[in-house]
Amino acid sequence: MPRPTAAERFARFINPNGPIPLIRGVIGRCHEWTGSTDQDGYARFWIDGRNRRAYHYAYEQSHGPIPAGHDIDHHCRNRRCVRDSHLRALTHRDNVLASGNVAAYRAAQTHCHRGHPFDEVNTRRRKNGTRACRACARARKTKQGATIHQITPATTSRKRAA
Ligand SMILES: [Zn+2]
Ligand SMILES: [Zn+2]
Repeated sequence: MPRPTAAERFARFINPNGPIPLIRGVIGRCHEWTGSTDQDGYARFWIDGRNRRAYHYAYEQSHGPIPAGHDIDHHCRNRRCVRDSHLRALTHRDNVLASGNVAAYRAAQTHCHRGHPFDEVNTRRRKNGTRACRACARARKTKQGATIHQITPATTSRKRAA
């Protein structure tokens, strides 16, 4: 008996009668992994002496190597699924957003949207736990102040003229 190929071994662990995900754009049943999973519930597969994520292997078999800087996302949101048509390559940022975990994405940010660092000095914790940028808050205050200063002399001079 010849040794089974990786693809043959892989196929043995697939249950093609998984659930039908009720997600727009995801067609057909999940192909659920019946082999081992890690503590996060992701399918694992031994290949070339390495314990890999099985859905990474599945993606590569159909689409080629995972593009640099990308994660493989389960469009069907089923971590056991290894069906190639349910997998897509997303940038890490898009992947976190796709997971719906916006709080985790924000927490991973090192700078505010204007590029000020979220360091100890510049960061204020809001009551809801999110971070506020002190530099931006200062800039907003200064801007408001500046607006008032600009209006006041103009109003005064108009009054004087009248
Ligand atoms: Zn699936
Ligand atoms: Zn800022």
